[in-house]
Amino acid sequence: MKFLDQAKIYIRSGDGGTGCVSFRREKYVEFGGPDGGNGGQGGHVIAKCVSGLNTLIDYRYQQHFKASKGEHGKGKNRTGANGKDKILKLPVGTQILAADKQKQIADLTTIGQTIMLLRGGKGGFGNTHFKGPTQQAPRHANPGQEGQEAWLWLRLKLIADIGLIGLPNVGKSTFLAAVSQAKPKIADYPFTTLHPNLGVAGAKGQEFVIADIPGLIAGASAGAGLGHRFLGHIERCTMLLHLLDGTQDNIVANYQTIRQELAAYGQIEKHEPTGKQGLTEKYEMLALNKCDLLDDNKLAAQCAALEAASGVKPFIISAATGQGIDALLAHMVERLDKMRQATHINTHEKAQEAEAQEAWYP
Ligand code: GDP
Ligand code: MG
Repeated sequence: MKFLDQAKIYIRSGDGGTGCVSFRREKYVEFGGPDGGNGGQGGHVIAKCVSGLNTLIDYRYQQHFKASKGEHGKGKNRTGANGKDKILKLPVGTQILAADKQKQIADLTTIGQTIMLLRGGKGGFGNTHFKGPTQQAPRHANPGQEGQEAWLWLRLKLIADIGLIGLPNVGKSTFLAAVSQAKPKIADYPFTTLHPNLGVAGAKGQEFVIADIPGLIAGASAGAGLGHRFLGHIERCTMLLHLLDGTQDNIVANYQTIRQELAAYGQIEKHEPTGKQGLTEKYEMLALNKCDLLDDNKLAAQCAALEAASGVKPFIISAATGQGIDALLAHMVERLDKMRQATHINTHEKAQEAEAQEAWYP
């Protein structure tokens, strides 16, 4: 399946149906009076957040979405049927932006969430509606209201528990393949992975989602390569696993390159009123990969250098042989648990606070 993280679409809600001009004509009924029904309501365009999608690829092949028109009113006071709504199914993490790409219209974060994007036009009144004491045989009806149209941008920012980051070739895809069912491309040259891959890993009976975020190189935050676009995905991850290639001599510099890109991206995004946590403030775990290729001395030296530079003790792993991976996954689960509990308590407290404030009126 292809991954697509942005798409431009055209949407239009349905026109309302026209009201009907009609008069009752039956045998033996004189002066039957008006009986033209109202037009039906045009269909709405609605966005719906659904499970089981992690790409916007469907929106590459179809870009125009129109809800259907309301039917016209009919004689015998029959109202036209309402137009059918157009429902856009979107993955969790989709942001809906106006055509200028600046104004955010919606942010889909929970499955089942629905947003009314465009209302359908109201149906016009039939001539029955205009009947009154002074106007007993109105010969006019209303046209339906026209539908509305808009161009929108869809932007997908993956929501994963763990964002897997690191320079090209450190073994991110190999790691993801080792801990999940995902089958990312693995190769011995940079830039094999052209889009983020998602995998579900498990430990201690719990499951969590890992996203392999490719394309981070020096200058990514300034637009080099595809990195800048992918940095946006990191924003939504609960925490980060920073993978380093233990066989590289300049391991500290490599570590700092990524950290600088995270920091620089944060600077850019601060202009957007998201109020979200910066990328560098996210909880980050370090893992020294490819330890199967290192002897004990080299391993100890690399570890010490990295710890001195980062202040964190790195995990030692080999994505190829599986060494150290269980301990790392176990740590992730523990940490995720704590963070989930913390946010749970947070939202619970906030709800209580709001309740308490509402309850008292002077
Ligand atoms: P990515 O660019 O970070 O996704 O890196 P890949 O997963 O594509 O791996 C790059 C290369 O490193 C591939 O040739 C992998 O086989 C190799 N590799 C990854 N992890 C390990 C490891 O733990 N040990 C060894 N010996 N090679 C590894
Ligand atoms: Mg890769």
